[in-house]
Amino acid sequence: MTRQIIFAITLLITLGVFSFTTYRLFRFFQLTRSGFPVRNIGKRLQIMLSVSFGQTKIFRRPVIGFFHALVFWGFCVILVGSIEMVIDGVGGVEKSLHFPGTFYDVIMASGDIFAFLVGISIVLFLVRRVFLHIKRFEGVEMKKISHQDANVALTLILFLMISLQGMNMAYVELQTRTGGDILGVYPVSQVLSGMFVGLPAESLELFYHFFWWSHILLIFLFANILPYSKHFHVFMSVPNTFLTRLEPLGKLTNMEHVMHEVQLMLNPEAAPAAATSVAAVSRFGVKDIEDITWKNYFDSLTCTECGRCTSVCPANITGKRLSPRKIMMDIRARMKEKGSLLIKQGKSFDDKRSLIRDLISEEELWACTTCNACAMECPVNINQPTLIVDMRRYLVMEEASAPGMLKTMFNNIENNGAPWQFSSEDRLGWAKDLNIKIK
Ligand code: SF4
Ligand code: SF4
Repeated sequence: MTRQIIFAITLLITLGVFSFTTYRLFRFFQLTRSGFPVRNIGKRLQIMLSVSFGQTKIFRRPVIGFFHALVFWGFCVILVGSIEMVIDGVGGVEKSLHFPGTFYDVIMASGDIFAFLVGISIVLFLVRRVFLHIKRFEGVEMKKISHQDANVALTLILFLMISLQGMNMAYVELQTRTGGDILGVYPVSQVLSGMFVGLPAESLELFYHFFWWSHILLIFLFANILPYSKHFHVFMSVPNTFLTRLEPLGKLTNMEHVMHEVQLMLNPEAAPAAATSVAAVSRFGVKDIEDITWKNYFDSLTCTECGRCTSVCPANITGKRLSPRKIMMDIRARMKEKGSLLIKQGKSFDDKRSLIRDLISEEELWACTTCNACAMECPVNINQPTLIVDMRRYLVMEEASAPGMLKTMFNNIENNGAPWQFSSEDRLGWAKDLNIKIK
């Protein structure tokens, strides 16, 4: 009974802290704009199954992708065992989800094998991060804290796997020793439990409880640390792939208000309909965190900081300051910086800083070629270019700020109806001596 009470208190604290974090994020989402309608559920489910559960984009880098996929699939299977542990803890029972038949055995056996494989994969990831200086993990945006964050999360996962394996090993050895039924199948732990052979039964029991509590407490800790780390993608990546932008990558979304202005110019008869159907615009494009859509913020929370986007970005590769990963990290950082103050002091709060210029420079924004290689490569289907374009829209439409050559082009379009410095009346001047009959 004491064990149940302690467990229930720990669970309540965990759920309390997690609810607080979720509520805080919800308030941040409330600061963002709408503007990402979620339709075509069937297609979305298909993408989610393929990109998240099939890990298709991760396999673009086959070797490291394979180990990442092992970790993802392992988490999915081990989750069942974790749910069982929570039920056991609350109910004061053992192996509560066990029922005769092979299903439970398969789940437990997979969990046991995956615990081992995930453990090995995490060791590889840690060695790679700490000892091999992978270029993809470097960059101006990758501060010391980003590396520490990744290493802490990986170490936690490693301890999670060690405690799970240890718990299974002690359980198997204890049941064998006392002649009890082993509920479930534990192929790896069966082999490794040989390490416990010399231990007295009391010590084995102690070990079992130690690993059981260590594992469940690490799960609770992990769940509450994740939302504050890059490993939040453990929760966010599956829904984010469901929320993938379905339009072709290169397609830019029209700004409704601007589109109506153009329609008005082309067809004034459409004026009354247009005037009533378009709401007033408070800002063109994105200047700061209040101007982004909820999907932009969702993307930033999902970013794993893996750097796959930056590693294929032609601007970054050719030495420009642009890094699509940095754009995502800046969104997250700016929301953390300004979001709470906006909530406390109201939407009119102004800290005299903004996403553009204070975090993301104009130089970075104009370096983007909108090639979409970043969006193509991102393993969790984040779309960076649409956000970059929205920030450029702000610069052009609200501040008339653009690189010199672009400004010339904009003026030409305005004055001549074409990007060149010639009047449209001279358009056919090149043919004047060619004796071509022009109608
Ligand atoms: S769309 Fe822009 S940010 Fe993305 S890869 Fe191309 S140049 Fe880089
Ligand atoms: S945006 Fe995507 S590819 Fe780029 S670092 Fe984040 S998760 Fe990785």
